[in-house]
Amino acid sequence: MSESSQYDLIIVGGGMVGATLACALGNSDLKIAVIDQQAPQPFSADQPHDLRVSALSVASQRILENVGAWGGIATRRSCPYRRMRVWETESQGDTLFESGDIDEPVLGHIVENRITQLALWESMSQFDNVTLYCPARIQSIDYQAGCSQVALENGESLTGKLLVGADGGQSRVRQAAGIGIHSWEYKQHALVAYVETEYPQQDITWQKFVPSGPLAFLPLTGNYGSLVWYNTPSEVKRLLALKDENFSQELFAEFPRELGELNRIISRASFPLRRQHALEYVKQGVALVGDAAHMIHPLAGQGVNIGLLDAAALAEVLAEAAREHQDVASLSVLTKFQQQRRKHNLAMMTTMDLFYRVFGDDKLPTKLIRNLGLGLAQRLTPAKNKAMRFAMGLEGPLPQLAKR
Ligand SMILES: Cc1cc2nc3c(=O)[nH]c(=O)nc-3n(C[C@H](O)[C@H](O)[C@H](O)COP(=O)(O)OP(=O)(O)OC[C@H]3O[C@@H](n4cnc5c(N)ncnc54)[C@H](O)[C@@H]3O)c2cc1C
Repeated sequence: MSESSQYDLIIVGGGMVGATLACALGNSDLKIAVIDQQAPQPFSADQPHDLRVSALSVASQRILENVGAWGGIATRRSCPYRRMRVWETESQGDTLFESGDIDEPVLGHIVENRITQLALWESMSQFDNVTLYCPARIQSIDYQAGCSQVALENGESLTGKLLVGADGGQSRVRQAAGIGIHSWEYKQHALVAYVETEYPQQDITWQKFVPSGPLAFLPLTGNYGSLVWYNTPSEVKRLLALKDENFSQELFAEFPRELGELNRIISRASFPLRRQHALEYVKQGVALVGDAAHMIHPLAGQGVNIGLLDAAALAEVLAEAAREHQDVASLSVLTKFQQQRRKHNLAMMTTMDLFYRVFGDDKLPTKLIRNLGLGLAQRLTPAKNKAMRFAMGLEGPLPQLAKR
């Protein structure tokens, strides 16, 4: 095998999380390969917005700034939001979160996933220690503690001390390493619609809870927005099959009047929702980050945000090990990463499940609890501010890259 195909780290998956990890270790002494099957489409300002967008938290913004990718997002397209209104239809429960209340300029930004990935790849290309293999299809992964081998369909073969699975929910790395998962399907699918709105860009996201599932509005630049409608799989299927005109009427009946008219439905698609958690994030010679490690209900937009925190925490642990001439593939080094992230992610997943269950239950005691909860959240400023900081990724111990 040639010298050039031996790496300290092989990151399988150059999505938002894998690419962040590579950038965070750019300029380190580690020799890194990133493998992805597909490159993101180039961006041009006259393209319509993508359907896949994410609400990036303030912590994610800081990470992306610190790895040199935020500039590439800002110069392309992103929409800041400063307020978030959450309410429950059949009650007085209504809460308005405002970034000014906790002295932050924004609560977050809505960014198309492809734009985040493009900005990261731009940043990644500047590091001499990072080699991108793309488009590259994986033929096989032979996981060996401390010396794994990845064979590509084009005949190339890479060897790495540490194999990182950043390859999403169906992670082949996770399977090759024999790491089990705990998982179930939510009884909801997400219908995402890209719409043209009457009013120009807003700085507020809306979330309305009804028993069949939440509905959310995420503002995009110009007169555009992303609407997410969580509902039973059969109802989502029915809505998806409607003609634009009929779909528009049903959508308009459910969404807040403050959004004005919906001028046009530009595109829509649905996504099944699964809750999944790897039983371990690490083994000797392997680590999992992002959706490869956890999939979470997207109702509060936290999936990629916790994934970027994984990437930042793993980078920190590996950089420190490399500086101290320790083995980056050793279980004692990797366990530090797992200790930092698994408990935190589990807490976030459990909170989302609580929302999913409490707001999806129409029985009277649960209704009373949630009305009380939202009402109290509005009146109790410290609790509200704490919830806001939690959603913004600013609570708990943060990796250095997520700090200012
Ligand atoms: C409807 C919906 C709305 C969401 N909204 C939000 C939100 O507002 N905020 C938020 O934080 N999160 C949100 N999420 C979650 C977020 O999209 C995911 O958490 C995020 O995309 C995970 O990023 P990742 O890089 O870990 O994985 P992925 O995005 O799945 O990337 C994996 C990468 O690995 C590559 N890959 C996979 N397999 C292979 C292979 N065998 N060989 C080579 N390459 C491979 C893929 O091409 C891809 O580039 C939402 C999810 C859904 C479904």
